[in-house]
Amino acid sequence: MRNSYDCIVVGGGPGGAWAAKHAAEQGANVLLLEKDREIGIPVRCAEAVGIDSLRLVVEPEERWISNRIKGAVLVSPHGKEVEVASDADQGYMLDRRIFDFGLVNIAASAGVEVKTKAYVNGLLRDNGSVKGVSVKHLGKDYKISSKIVIGADGVESRVGRFGGLKTNIKLKDLECCLQMTLANIKINPDNIYLYFGRDVAPGGYLWVFPKDETTANVGIGISGEFAKEKSAKRYLEEFIEKYFPHAAVLYTVVGGVPCAPTLKKIVMDGLMLVGDAAHQVNPVTGGGIVTAMLAGRIAGQVAAQAIKENDVTGERFAEYPEKWHKIQGKNHERMHKIKQAISKLTDDDLNATADSVLALPEEKRTLGNIFKKALIKQPAMLFDIMKVFLK
Ligand SMILES: Cc1cc2nc3c(=O)[nH]c(=O)nc-3n(C[C@H](O)[C@H](O)[C@H](O)COP(=O)(O)OP(=O)(O)OC[C@H]3O[C@@H](n4cnc5c(N)ncnc54)[C@H](O)[C@@H]3O)c2cc1C
Repeated sequence: MRNSYDCIVVGGGPGGAWAAKHAAEQGANVLLLEKDREIGIPVRCAEAVGIDSLRLVVEPEERWISNRIKGAVLVSPHGKEVEVASDADQGYMLDRRIFDFGLVNIAASAGVEVKTKAYVNGLLRDNGSVKGVSVKHLGKDYKISSKIVIGADGVESRVGRFGGLKTNIKLKDLECCLQMTLANIKINPDNIYLYFGRDVAPGGYLWVFPKDETTANVGIGISGEFAKEKSAKRYLEEFIEKYFPHAAVLYTVVGGVPCAPTLKKIVMDGLMLVGDAAHQVNPVTGGGIVTAMLAGRIAGQVAAQAIKENDVTGERFAEYPEKWHKIQGKNHERMHKIKQAISKLTDDDLNATADSVLALPEEKRTLGNIFKKALIKQPAMLFDIMKVFLK
């Protein structure tokens, strides 16, 4: 490890890997620091991703994929199943251990230097501008300077806070998630299943994402507002007891998902934030893999260009949030509005939505139509739904 780099990326998740790769490809020398001992572990994800959206950021490799998904089944509080089906594959279940490892591997091939067991515990400053990081690597403390630091350190981002950026999140926008990987179950591996309702997953949803016919990621995300009444763990255990009483639990993971608008400020002199650290997760689905990579790509490219121009000010970096909002951010804000409206629906509203969607011919049971039916009493939302789903 040298004393100085053009760019230091903190975090070896999808956002960090893609920021590092793109900065290096544009000529910057880049160091990526990951606190855990191995890239990709532990997995804090249900591992589902849309094929078309993944292709926007990378051509998928076969070894990243554990299952192919054709459709989704949405289950109402009164147990009615609404199937959004397709003949073609729509999504992948990734193996995030292999996927994340693969992305950082690609970044390394682009010239990125990578260190694991490297915990960034502070930022170096000069006249308020960020100039590098302090890091504990394999038990030893180092100070490493850089022209730019990219914080891709996930939902608990400390880098943003070290820099003085406002990273707090409203409790109602933080989904408290718990997931168990179950084995010894029987499941149709073609569909993902989403369960809704006040008694199942208040302010969120419960998911069953099959990895194959006998294994699935079964998890729950509930709004922080409700978590104090009854824990996500109790909701999930009750569900598993009811539907998969003989399951073996192979893996348990907890984590928060920021289903919030993008942070108001994601750049400052010498610093950019990417991915969960910048609150770039899709607020409706809680999916953040692709959005982190999209943001990482833009941030990495802007960083490399700024270094060439010898201008690493927050003003110069404004190109990154501008591009993010143009490509994804506007939809992201609309998704947040839709999420807020959906979270106010009662079980009766959800049941009525399921009944009216089931009255439609099968080919009309699209996500756009489901959201339209769900929010029929809120015509002001229709424009946002059209923009997001019917592009
Ligand atoms: C239960 C659950 C289920 C989910 N399911 C899905 C899903 O099905 N599909 C989907 O698209 N998204 C899902 N998500 C969201 C998705 O996992 C994240 O949005 C995505 O991983 C964001 O990528 P990232 O690179 O921003 O952050 P992360 O993947 O969180 O990576 C951040 C990295 O930074 C490292 N780090 C943190 N602090 C430091 C530090 N101080 N020094 C050095 N390294 C540090 C961490 O160890 C970590 O490796 C889920 C999340 C949860 C919690």
